[in-house]
Amino acid sequence: MSSSYLLERAWVGGAVHDDVLVEIADGRFASVVLTRRNSPLSDGVPSGQRQFHRVPGETARLPGLTLPGLVNDHSHAFHRALRGRTQRERGTFWTWREQMYAVAERLEPDTYRALARAAYREMVAAGYTSVTEFHYVHHRPDGTAYASPNAMGDALRQAAEDAGIRITLLDTCYVSSGFGAPPEGVQRRYSDGDAEAWAARAGDGPAAIHSVRAVPREQLPVFRGRAPLHVHLSEQAAENDACLAAYGVTPARLLHEADLLGPGTTVVHATHLTGDDIELLGTTGTRVCITPTTERDLADGIGPARRLHEAGCPVTIGSDSHAVVDPFEELRGLEMDERLATGERGHWTAAELLAVGTAGRGIEVGAEADLVTLDTSTPRTAGTGADEHTAVFAATAADVSQVVVGGRVVFTRGDEQEIGRELDDAIGALR
Ligand SMILES: [Zn+2]
Repeated sequence: MSSSYLLERAWVGGAVHDDVLVEIADGRFASVVLTRRNSPLSDGVPSGQRQFHRVPGETARLPGLTLPGLVNDHSHAFHRALRGRTQRERGTFWTWREQMYAVAERLEPDTYRALARAAYREMVAAGYTSVTEFHYVHHRPDGTAYASPNAMGDALRQAAEDAGIRITLLDTCYVSSGFGAPPEGVQRRYSDGDAEAWAARAGDGPAAIHSVRAVPREQLPVFRGRAPLHVHLSEQAAENDACLAAYGVTPARLLHEADLLGPGTTVVHATHLTGDDIELLGTTGTRVCITPTTERDLADGIGPARRLHEAGCPVTIGSDSHAVVDPFEELRGLEMDERLATGERGHWTAAELLAVGTAGRGIEVGAEADLVTLDTSTPRTAGTGADEHTAVFAATAADVSQVVVGGRVVFTRGDEQEIGRELDDAIGALR
């Protein structure tokens, strides 16, 4: 299957260009041509040998500003059912967790699939073309396995396929509710008993350690060499205190001693870190996923995102609890939160933030053909320059006009009402 688009304006090779012609074959960019220059971008082929096969059929013209697909690197799909509800009362991360558990208790594979499909459709509509799902509700409400032991994970995979979003499903190990404490209540749904049993069920795919409180130190060697591997890290000061009391080291140091830091590992949040933690994460090239709108919602604090970036950590964003699903707001949050924390402006450039949002992926030959187009004439975006600053400092998810994943159109403006209905139905079914 092949298709081609003429992009009115597009973020290509670290700059905005007018009239970019992209040809897509088998889900990837077959060519990317800056027509204004009448020359293709570098694709590793010497210019004299470049050939461009015109794709039969019409070239669709895409007005607006087109970006590479945005990556949602941390999601718990079912948390979408909590939006607008957990914010009603005062409370802490820990009281929020009680409400989250009440939803987790009611999920079954069919209702989970419906909820996740609606949540993923909302993500696609917001410009996310891939999601990293941190999945830990594995078992029946009483903790026993489903007849098909990965029925819940399969429901998430099917939901992503239905919604047209790419998914990296992280099978998450959760075997203790705190340092030395067994799972209780709904947490029994999360637990396989121990890390060995988790590995036997989960197999070799992408994995996660829920947190250092959820997997005892002596079981951490099970995860050595696994990639991708994600871990919630130092989201709460209380987690750091408990880790220090149990093991005498910080969570980052604990992971390092277990040989679990490195480029294949992503730590999520990384909010309450010591200088030593930042150095450990940076020198090992560990990836860091920051979730600004969730951290804001849960009063978690502001993590040292810029310092981690400068230390050598590739940074990504995630919508995590889905209090907000808007990649532009997450990216803006990275800069705005640093401003509030430091009293200074200008920590991240718009180009750097787009690199964070796309996890370094671009509109380039050979890459997966994911395209997110922003309408540059809405009340929010009009008059803002229609460039990377529009994307990062002006746009919202509501300004996305079309989304393409692997060459296939998965969202166009007008789909919102149907997505809203789907969310209403899926969340209503859980009450
Ligand atoms: Zn999370």
